[in-house]
Amino acid sequence: MIPGSFEYHSPGTLIEAASLLRRHGDEAKILSGGQSLIPLLKLRLATPGHLVDINQVPGLAYLQEADGNLRIGALAREADLEDSDLIRSRYPILSDTSRAIADPLVRNLATVCGNLAHADPANDHPATMLALEAEATAVGPGGERHLPLVSFFTGPFTTALQADEILTEVRVPAPPPRSGGAYLKFERKVGDFATAAVAVQLTLGPDGTCDRIGIGLTNVGPVPIKARNAEAWLRGKPLEERTCKEAARLAAEESQPVSDFRGPAEYKRDLVRILTARALRKALERIAGG
Ligand SMILES: Cc1cc2nc3c(=O)[nH]c(=O)nc-3n(C[C@H](O)[C@H](O)[C@H](O)COP(=O)(O)OP(=O)(O)OC[C@H]3O[C@@H](n4cnc5c(N)ncnc54)[C@H](O)[C@@H]3O)c2cc1C
Repeated sequence: MIPGSFEYHSPGTLIEAASLLRRHGDEAKILSGGQSLIPLLKLRLATPGHLVDINQVPGLAYLQEADGNLRIGALAREADLEDSDLIRSRYPILSDTSRAIADPLVRNLATVCGNLAHADPANDHPATMLALEAEATAVGPGGERHLPLVSFFTGPFTTALQADEILTEVRVPAPPPRSGGAYLKFERKVGDFATAAVAVQLTLGPDGTCDRIGIGLTNVGPVPIKARNAEAWLRGKPLEERTCKEAARLAAEESQPVSDFRGPAEYKRDLVRILTARALRKALERIAGG
């Protein structure tokens, strides 16, 4: 439980942080909330020679709507989302997601950007960000890059970020009128990672049919899964019980769970079916409730 030795850096600017990453390459790791990295260090599953702590970089702890997007800065914590009226009223799917993560102690420190950068297939934000069609901003020696979350997760614990890039912001498109979303997670006990979870973000057209739909699945594959067949099936259709049931069946078909200590693969696949149907219903209820 004692980490290997490392050199600790506490840069005061993003430029300084980026140049430390460039100088130390694969030997360096960013430290944000530390809620995934510190346990890995203690178990010696990660032994970086340099830790670049970005907590002293000013101006990264924001959560604001601007230019048609919700912008979540690199140091916005789960607890910030949980406490935010903006998130509760405009982005209930994000409120659901943050509240489903671990416990208040973890949520006080863990960042949304860290959750995405860590890319654990069991983490909760990736599926939600897939449903929301969010985009990440990365800053590195080559300047700024914008990475759609749909192509961000390249494997378990692996992302499209370069070793010398910092994930500085996630942008979520502001929901148009008649939108609603929900994140439903099934866990063995409070604070556990998901056995399976489903994120749904829905926008209805003026005639009540499905205009936009995003469906993301947690912990039922090597990476978070965007349930594209279920989405395609729903587009343009009225959200009737029968339509939603078929979408849920398609989402389950798209999941790729494996049997493990959280349950057999078939059980998890069926959880995806049930959670998708429920999340669609909840999204519709939220639209109806304004
Ligand atoms: C007891 C416990 C229970 C948990 N349960 C859940 C759960 O149910 N659901 C869930 O989703 N998560 C869970 N977590 C994980 C926790 O939510 C993650 O630690 C957190 O989301 C990661 O963010 P962080 O800021 O703590 O990142 P850190 O731990 O600081 O970093 C994690 C990784 O991401 C990299 N990184 C961090 N920030 C950036 C950045 N801005 N740019 C580039 N790379 C970066 C780091 O270098 C490191 O490799 C749990 C953690 C604990 C300790």
